[in-house]
Amino acid sequence: MARYRDAKCRLCRREGMKLFLKGARCFTDKCAIERRNYPPGQHGLNRGKLTAFGVQLREKQKAKRIYGVLESQFRKYFAWAEREKGVTGENLLRLLECRLDNVVHRCGFAASRRESRQMVAHGHFQVNGRKVSVPSYIVRVGEVVQLRSTSKMQARVDDNMNAGRAQIPQWLEVDPNDKKGLVRGLPLREDIQIPVNEQLIVELYSK
Ligand code: SF4
Repeated sequence: MARYRDAKCRLCRREGMKLFLKGARCFTDKCAIERRNYPPGQHGLNRGKLTAFGVQLREKQKAKRIYGVLESQFRKYFAWAEREKGVTGENLLRLLECRLDNVVHRCGFAASRRESRQMVAHGHFQVNGRKVSVPSYIVRVGEVVQLRSTSKMQARVDDNMNAGRAQIPQWLEVDPNDKKGLVRGLPLREDIQIPVNEQLIVELYSK
């Protein structure tokens, strides 16, 4: 499975904002956005004004980077979102939000989506009592995501939950004692607090 392996902070610097890709470090003054808030690279400080295409491209890149999804998979989500009823942009964000790795992160079990992705891929979580090790698994309403009782990540998850950084959205209900999260409903647009204008992504892919 392909994934981005270069420095994560470069991605935030390219987008000019914190994308919170590294967990606890993102909340300290070691954050690269706090220190060098300009695009990476030799010409980072000399980039000109963005074109209309550039603005749309940046929104798409931002969404991909926040959820840790590469281009081909992102295009599949877009095609899926187009087939669904409703507004394509909102469908797209809802699909991304319902990925298992995102749900684990939203529940506060992992400090970042990268950490939750690794925990899921290493088989530490179960859905409705069955082990699921596919980070892109799309959760459904009524499903219960839980840390497996045999997992060696109990202390790590406790630490993450005690850090109290997670803002648990209304569509999830978390039981901290059993380390489980119930999917109460599908996320609405207002539940998805990410700094992305999804309409610009739709315009980009509709050209
Ligand atoms: Fe982004 Fe976190 Fe790196 Fe800051 S520390 S630049 S928020 S990944």
